[in-house]
Amino acid sequence: MPVDSTSELLKHYEVYETIGSGGFAKVKLGRHILTGEKVAIKIMEKKDLGDDLPRVKIEIEAMKNLSHQHVCRLYHVIETSSKIYMVLEYCPGGELFDYIIAKDRLSEEETRVFFHQIISAMAYVHSQGYAHRDLKPENLLIDEDHNLKLIDFGLCAKPKGGLGFELLTCCGSPAYAAPELIQGKAYIGSEADVWSMGVLLYALLCGFLPFDDDNCMVLYRKITRGKYSNPHWLSPASILLLNQMMQVDPKRRLTVKQLLDHPWVMKGYSTPVEWQSKHPLGHIDEDCITEMAVASKQSRQLTIQLVSEWKYDQMTATYLLLLAKKRQGRPVRLRAECPVIDRMYSPLQDIQLKKSQRPSVSGEKSSCPNIHCVHLVTVTNHLLHWNGQVHTGDRERAGSATKEVSRRREMDQQQSGQQGELDILAFSPERRSRSLDLAGCQVDSGQKRKGGKVFGSLERGLDKVITMLTPSKKRGPRDGPRKIKAQYNVTLTSQTNADQVLNQILSILPEKNVDFVQKGYTLKCHTQSDFGKVTMQFELEVCILQKPEVVGIRRQRLKGDAWVYKHLVEDILSTSSI
Ligand code: ADP
Repeated sequence: MPVDSTSELLKHYEVYETIGSGGFAKVKLGRHILTGEKVAIKIMEKKDLGDDLPRVKIEIEAMKNLSHQHVCRLYHVIETSSKIYMVLEYCPGGELFDYIIAKDRLSEEETRVFFHQIISAMAYVHSQGYAHRDLKPENLLIDEDHNLKLIDFGLCAKPKGGLGFELLTCCGSPAYAAPELIQGKAYIGSEADVWSMGVLLYALLCGFLPFDDDNCMVLYRKITRGKYSNPHWLSPASILLLNQMMQVDPKRRLTVKQLLDHPWVMKGYSTPVEWQSKHPLGHIDEDCITEMAVASKQSRQLTIQLVSEWKYDQMTATYLLLLAKKRQGRPVRLRAECPVIDRMYSPLQDIQLKKSQRPSVSGEKSSCPNIHCVHLVTVTNHLLHWNGQVHTGDRERAGSATKEVSRRREMDQQQSGQQGELDILAFSPERRSRSLDLAGCQVDSGQKRKGGKVFGSLERGLDKVITMLTPSKKRGPRDGPRKIKAQYNVTLTSQTNADQVLNQILSILPEKNVDFVQKGYTLKCHTQSDFGKVTMQFELEVCILQKPEVVGIRRQRLKGDAWVYKHLVEDILSTSSI
């Protein structure tokens, strides 16, 4: 187990900003260097986990055994002496929760599309012998194709005698918990999951919870009675289905199997919900193996052997991310590029860079060495390192691997008619606007001084190159609000003056006991308990929408109870009269 916390991660990934946080973890956006694919990196501090460490182990083991189109895929696990990193499929669409609240509630038709995917995921999870036990719209993420992916298996259970065996641990979020669960009775995990699916279905169709109360005891009483209201917009068929799922007696509840071809679920569909995995575990894809074998100058046989170990290491991650590219119809190619940061952590890379002392592109002296050369050298090193072995003679082979990689890259560019990814990386506004956020990736004390310096100069170096390349587009804090397209997490106002809107919000936040830090038009907000514990964290950004050109407010919850957040943000925005 590596002692240093960050080097193992940064060897393979670029790490960007925090995109979420939960009970145990902070989640950051990242990029897998070798494939260039975006990933989500779930970071957990072992010392903070304490007694919950076994839960993380459960989650990791469960996710290793689950591969399904509606379950978030685990790619890589890195454990160091102080941290656990889980590298996951990145879902850019945010939480289903935010989607519901942005729309108030969903139509029956849209709910049905999502519910199909939820049933599909749950039927698969149950078929593998697991119960999720924490099903809620915060744990369903939306991917770039607007499909749902189930996350957070930290509370899942796999009873030894199979799913029919009773469980005793009371867990999950109270509002979604089945009556038998909160009463502390022994319960069947899959039956409790169906209750939560009922609560979730209700939240989708209504935009609020069937059982809700600030007081936990009152909430528990409501759940055990199982009485909720049916708003007037619910169709009789929806009322019936909800009733069949939210039966207090678990034996009278529908089963997931019955849901697959339930009349409400089937409406407008000719076949029952498809729940079998389209991406079964253990499948070996020829094209991905070929790419990896060519790039690493290893035999296909050895590559297959290494991939088949499914160690959830760099080998597994590279293979699964290449496969993801293939499924999206993109070239099954590894990138001949990587960020400058990576070479800081590989002794071999250092040797190679020193050996060559490459001049900069323009021949001028730059604080950042020639990006092209660095990228090509570094990718070679990744290839050499991915099974943790560096052999004598690898460096010579590395030279030809580099050539092979550049040759194939040229081929890809010609094929796609695109500019090189290399240039896109350097010019990308996404990269430009983000500083490498290393706050959550502390360096162990032994590395601190060196690491701090390296990061500092590195960021400055990168920034300098980027500024040099695109001076006019670089953003500063005094720039105006961002122009963005309408998204579901953006509240539209009828106003056109962004500063006025910003000032209105600024004046209202203290009234609502919300602390904040202002960064341009973004307000990083948080609330605290009486004991100073941060209870909620979220961002509000005043931006300009393109069509219609009005001011919008982008919201993002980073931490805290989703429904409390909903009420607070609604309150802030309505009080600000915008
Ligand atoms: P915890 O186990 O600590 O509760 P979660 O796994 O629920 O942490 O993650 C916390 C939050 O981080 C999620 O609610 C979501 O907003 C964000 N997140 C988690 N995984 C991903 C992912 N794969 N893609 C995008 N965002 C994610």
